[in-house]
Amino acid sequence: MLNKKFGFLLYFFVLMILSSFAVDYYDMVIGYSVDNRPIKLFACGRGREFLVMIAGIHGNEGNTTETAYHLIDQIKSEKIIIPPSKTVIIVPNANPDGLAYQTRVNAHQVDLNRNFETTNWQKTSLYHGRILSCGAYPFSEPESQVIQNLFLEINRLPVTSVALTLHSQANAIFEASEDSYNIILAEYLRQISKFKRIIYYPTTGDLERWLAEEYGIASATIEFATKKDPENQELVKVVQILLKTDFTKKFYQSPSKSDQPKSLTSQHFNSLIKNLKISK
Ligand SMILES: [Zn+2]
Repeated sequence: MLNKKFGFLLYFFVLMILSSFAVDYYDMVIGYSVDNRPIKLFACGRGREFLVMIAGIHGNEGNTTETAYHLIDQIKSEKIIIPPSKTVIIVPNANPDGLAYQTRVNAHQVDLNRNFETTNWQKTSLYHGRILSCGAYPFSEPESQVIQNLFLEINRLPVTSVALTLHSQANAIFEASEDSYNIILAEYLRQISKFKRIIYYPTTGDLERWLAEEYGIASATIEFATKKDPENQELVKVVQILLKTDFTKKFYQSPSKSDQPKSLTSQHFNSLIKNLKISK
């Protein structure tokens, strides 16, 4: 009788230990595209430094979505370990209609990465000799609203963020703006990756410029080498190095907040998840 009770307790004890080691992550839907395809978000970690990655905002750059899913798998299988100071957020497919139709634009024929509310926003943009719509007004598109809302919610929290946007195919690092944190981030990415060229030209209504103007968030675009091949190995390497980098010190050049706890309170984290998650 005693043995049975002891066995029972031991079973629960082992279960508790095992569950405390299992990687804790969220897979959820945070919005829908024009043609009602889900826009998904993956989140893992509890740290106050957020690494946010957005892939597939141009639907004909499906290799970026493929790589984003590879990163998610690597985190789920603990091949990428997220330290207590970091949280990783990934939106692997920001333009699911574009991916389904193999178009750069969304189902309204809008270039989503020209639909963000920057001070230089314009109604149209020229892309390889074609005039593309940037939307009727900034944030006219459900897909860009989803990303807007994501950063709005992140910005409510006491966190320091760095964003990477994945595109193809310039085989380079695209510097988001001339703000010092973006210059430092682009140069750092050049040093730690195989992408040895930094390119910069002003664009209108892009996510990266909006992040700088609206929130002072450092971001850079990694432009894959081709439109076809994923850059799995390269991105795993870059993410692993970024997870070991002190964002506050390295990119924002402020002293690291050593007096502050490294992790978010569960109240903060739960409110983020609750506010982002869409229940259908
Ligand atoms: Zn692109």
